[in-house]
Amino acid sequence: MTRFLITGGAGFIGSHLADKLIEQGRQVTIIDDLSTGRFENIQHLVDHPNFSFAIDTITNEVVMDRLASMCDVIFHLAAAVGVRLIVENPVHTIETNVMGTEAVLKVAQRYRAKVMLASTSEVYGKGNSIPFRENDDVLLGPTIHNRWAYAASKMIDEFLGLAYHQEKGLPVVIFRLFNTVGPRQTGQYGMVIPRFVKQALNSEPITVYGDGKQRRSFTWVGDVVEALISLAGNPAAIGQVFNIGHEKEISIYELAALIKKLTGSHSEIKFIPYEEAYADAGNFEDMQRRLPDISKINEQIGYQPSLDLEDILSRVIEYHKKRM
Ligand code: UDP
Repeated sequence: MTRFLITGGAGFIGSHLADKLIEQGRQVTIIDDLSTGRFENIQHLVDHPNFSFAIDTITNEVVMDRLASMCDVIFHLAAAVGVRLIVENPVHTIETNVMGTEAVLKVAQRYRAKVMLASTSEVYGKGNSIPFRENDDVLLGPTIHNRWAYAASKMIDEFLGLAYHQEKGLPVVIFRLFNTVGPRQTGQYGMVIPRFVKQALNSEPITVYGDGKQRRSFTWVGDVVEALISLAGNPAAIGQVFNIGHEKEISIYELAALIKKLTGSHSEIKFIPYEEAYADAGNFEDMQRRLPDISKINEQIGYQPSLDLEDILSRVIEYHKKRM
């Protein structure tokens, strides 16, 4: 039976992945340093006979060696995430993403474990050939903008993963996650939907950054998790890069208005200049559009997102209402 290790398994996506694998009767171990992950995300799993966990960092070689020796597939999701965190903690971001992935690939190589390596749509940077295809050129901003350190560090992860595959024959699959949404995602590190939903439910101003014309597409976490499990079981996916996202876009202003409507909130929609929104003030660059081409993963595993934005939002609103 395949045994799974999830780095960052107490995080938003990692914990949903753990839930799904456990539901399928698989053996799951997670490692998480709880820097952005939360114990409450996995608390319901800790007594399950197929589940085990380590609260530690992935750069702890002794621990990672033991965990990797006991697994067949590693989902590597541990990373610095969230625009706010990245902009405010650039050293932590670069070190976690680069050294963490290096540590995971090294130990995977020792035990010949398959690595499912999480990357991000940020690597497309300011590219304007919409929708983004896996083989597109990338266009990042200058190094004075911290945001691009995240994209560059994730690009190094991709290069390193592909190099381990090409040079050492390690089975590696890379997936670029676009904006993913669902229960357990916190707005603490910047993510827009949990922030807007909480603001709307608390009758606080809904804070639209910039002019609100920037556009995003949002994917239900359950769809992402199913795609990850399916990709992991697909030998032909090895050595390749896949977008995982949703093909319908919405502007951030329209998103604010939709959340206001769906929650029945009386909150005002307030425009906040980027200089006030993020710590590195005049140094912030947003992406105007970010939309995936999902034809590659669709052809590979038949991936098609099952939930559209309104349904995703209804579920997220329900989740936050229950917690209030
Ligand atoms: N955003 C916003 N208000 C917030 C948080 C985010 O207007 O309170 C905007 C942000 O500037 C970006 C979009 O929403 O244009 C998505 O932000 P998020 O951090 O969720 O993800 P990103 O796509 O930027 O990685």
